[in-house]
Amino acid sequence: MSNKIEYVNGEQLVELIKSSEKPVIVDYFSDECPPCEVLAPIFEKMAEKYSDHIRFVKIMRQDNRETALSMGVAGSPTVLFFKNGQEIGHRLSGFMTKPQVRIAIETILGDVLPPVTMERVDCDLLILGGGPAGLTAGLYAGRAKLNTIIVEASICGGQIATTNHVSNYPGTEGTTNGKALANNMKEQALSFGVRIDDLKEINSVKLAGPDKVVVTEDIEYHAKAIILATGARPRPLDAEGADDFKGRGVHYCATCDGAMYEDADVLVIGGGSAAIEEAIFLTRFANHVTIVHRRDGFRAAQMELDEANSNEKITMLTNKVVKEVIPGEFVLKEVILKDVKTEEETVIPASGVFVYVGNDPQTELFAGQIGLDQTGYIVAGEDTNTTMAGVFAAGDVRTKPLRQVATATSDGAVAAIMAEKYIHIVK
Ligand code: NAP
Repeated sequence: MSNKIEYVNGEQLVELIKSSEKPVIVDYFSDECPPCEVLAPIFEKMAEKYSDHIRFVKIMRQDNRETALSMGVAGSPTVLFFKNGQEIGHRLSGFMTKPQVRIAIETILGDVLPPVTMERVDCDLLILGGGPAGLTAGLYAGRAKLNTIIVEASICGGQIATTNHVSNYPGTEGTTNGKALANNMKEQALSFGVRIDDLKEINSVKLAGPDKVVVTEDIEYHAKAIILATGARPRPLDAEGADDFKGRGVHYCATCDGAMYEDADVLVIGGGSAAIEEAIFLTRFANHVTIVHRRDGFRAAQMELDEANSNEKITMLTNKVVKEVIPGEFVLKEVILKDVKTEEETVIPASGVFVYVGNDPQTELFAGQIGLDQTGYIVAGEDTNTTMAGVFAAGDVRTKPLRQVATATSDGAVAAIMAEKYIHIVK
């Protein structure tokens, strides 16, 4: 725990904001909140770097609900900035990346730090992304005695680390906790000598030629081969007001923010496994959960749909999309839905909306260098070969018919062995 961070209660926070001579950054966090766990090491790293210029403060939202609500904070984590007793800048909420937090701080501080000196690091194999695909690739590459570095923009684990229950990963006892599973994968990769550099912002990537180069904020990596395992990120809800009320009625993590909606009516948007599983989870708290899906066929497994259909707290509305969210005093008051067939609009009372409308691949850095399909996924077959020699794609980022932990780990194993062959034989 960094000694550069102050932990306060509601009263102390109000006083500190009023009296602080320096600007203040406040992290409202909760227990059992995956995005809060992602933010925690980012916040510590930022505090190490910037605490001479801005005060870093953390407050437990669950224990200080009144203060949180008085500041319009209804979701965890929420990050706010204050200067001279007034809130300034833009709030951040939900899953945050290190660049988002860093840019928000630097916008408030301006140029206060000296430029960084870059270090050069050489290795056999670079793996971009520390989710199940990247960690499994690391495990196999470590066992093949390749000098391997995993570079991760956030913390290791990927999307499963934010999932409470993984029910279909073979070899586990029925249902397992996603974070624990990811942590085991990380420890196993480390045990074979792999280096993991996490919280690294990747600024640029050069994939062509025999020397693959990845530039982060302080290290320039050079490798003989590279595995791209950068995964996917949750797709945002495209509706009026959805951005403005993120963390204040519009949420992307039921585990983190579901408990706020005790006895309330909420909507879950989407028709895949995530939407159905999280809707079932939300019935622990909510009075009623309405699943809103844009067509009448679902992607979720039949077993999940049967469980949702037999839950008396759940209703399903099909062929509808969210047009607009309407705020209430603290969270939402209602949501305007539009029928995709008739265009008819209906207003439905709801305090919160939980969004599970799928994911987009994280491939912006590779565009123009290797083949991507129309939706941005890296074109690669079962052998994980991309359109560029020495560049392999593994996990959710690759074109494939099924995106699961099992298929991601499988890709990771194949990619590492293909990279080993490339380094020793082809190259
Ligand atoms: P998903 O399977 O891609 O489903 C996304 C859902 O959101 C689809 O029903 C889609 O509708 C809908 N949607 C997409 N864009 C939308 C938009 N703009 N507006 C409204 N609705 C929209 O995503 P997911 O449920 O997040 O799952 C992601 C991956 O993780 C999947 O591969 C899934 O198999 C996996 N997963 C597995 C488990 C498990 O095995 N236990 C649990 C969670 C997730 P359409 O159907 O019309 O496209």
